[in-house]
Amino acid sequence: RKLNFSAGPAALPEEVLKQAQEEMLDWHGHGLSIMEMSHRSKEYVSVAEQAEQDLRDLMQVPDNYKILFLQGGATSQFSMIPMNLLRDKKTADYINTGVWSKKAIEEASRYCNVNIAATTQHNNFTSAPSQDQLQLNPEAAYVHYTPNETIGGVEFDYIPQTGDVPLVADMSSTILSRPIDVSRFALIYAGAQKNIGPAGLTVVIVREDLLGQTLPGTPTMFDYAVHAAADSMNNTPPTYGWYLAGLIFQWLKRQGGVEGMQAINQRKAEKLYQAIDQSTFYANPVAIANRSWMNVPFTLADAALDKLFIEESEQAGLLNLKGHRSVGGMRASIYNAVPETAVDSLIEFMQHFERKHVE
Ligand code: PLP
Repeated sequence: RKLNFSAGPAALPEEVLKQAQEEMLDWHGHGLSIMEMSHRSKEYVSVAEQAEQDLRDLMQVPDNYKILFLQGGATSQFSMIPMNLLRDKKTADYINTGVWSKKAIEEASRYCNVNIAATTQHNNFTSAPSQDQLQLNPEAAYVHYTPNETIGGVEFDYIPQTGDVPLVADMSSTILSRPIDVSRFALIYAGAQKNIGPAGLTVVIVREDLLGQTLPGTPTMFDYAVHAAADSMNNTPPTYGWYLAGLIFQWLKRQGGVEGMQAINQRKAEKLYQAIDQSTFYANPVAIANRSWMNVPFTLADAALDKLFIEESEQAGLLNLKGHRSVGGMRASIYNAVPETAVDSLIEFMQHFERKHVE
């Protein structure tokens, strides 16, 4: 297998893929695949419940939060959040730090007045605003932000203080990369296809007191309370994705949980940024305090070499290093399942490429 630096769907731990392969045709001696089983069977329900419990353990999710296993991607959450959390309010605060914040803002604007509490557009989204820079509206229904911008590689180094206003976070590309204090949030959501499992599953962690106050006309499938009451089985859930997420959660526990991942992720990111900073050929534009541990964008001093970099990296077995089309350059996504040795190989390749093409 090659080394995969994709931003998503992203690399999964080989150990987990092998386990899924072994269990694929005959799950635990039942003579059929888990994906062929009813979601209401006692076998499947036990898999689903175990996955939820493992995620609860890993993130230390307090008892007054529901964990939902939904479909529709993080993008559906851009509308589910205003539909469920606006209640009788007319305004929501959004912090704009790049492409994904903007998409969330555009969608929320269909339902309410969006107050941009802060934006880093002036520096081309290469930093996160500080707490002091947030112009929060005490009347807002909630504050939404994107702790890690997957495309820009910008990560908040703090959790915004929002007083009594509920805080909502799109953690698609940072969830489970390190410990976080869930109790600081009203709602956390994440598409699975980076640190959780295969695409098609979306995880929502929501404080119970916020449920059951949807806007009139909200579709049943967009109502968190419906999913919470049905243990995410109001209809057929994404059963295989949920099962695979459960295997990933068990794998994470074997790695020492999110504390274990934190140490590894920090080392991986630090060595890659150090290699970039020490060279005059590679550059990363993000403010040091806001550099993402998960997505590392970088440019080459000579953009004419971009194509060659991609070609040669692929030949060396390093895949998906091309930056997002909106920003260009390169991006290495180094999620939980990308081993430290893959980052070492990338750094070695980068240094080799620089020597070969620059001197
Ligand atoms: N939010 C962030 C931070 C993302 O990185 C992505 C996808 O890459 C999305 C939202 C959209 O997720 P989905 O494709 O699951 O709708």
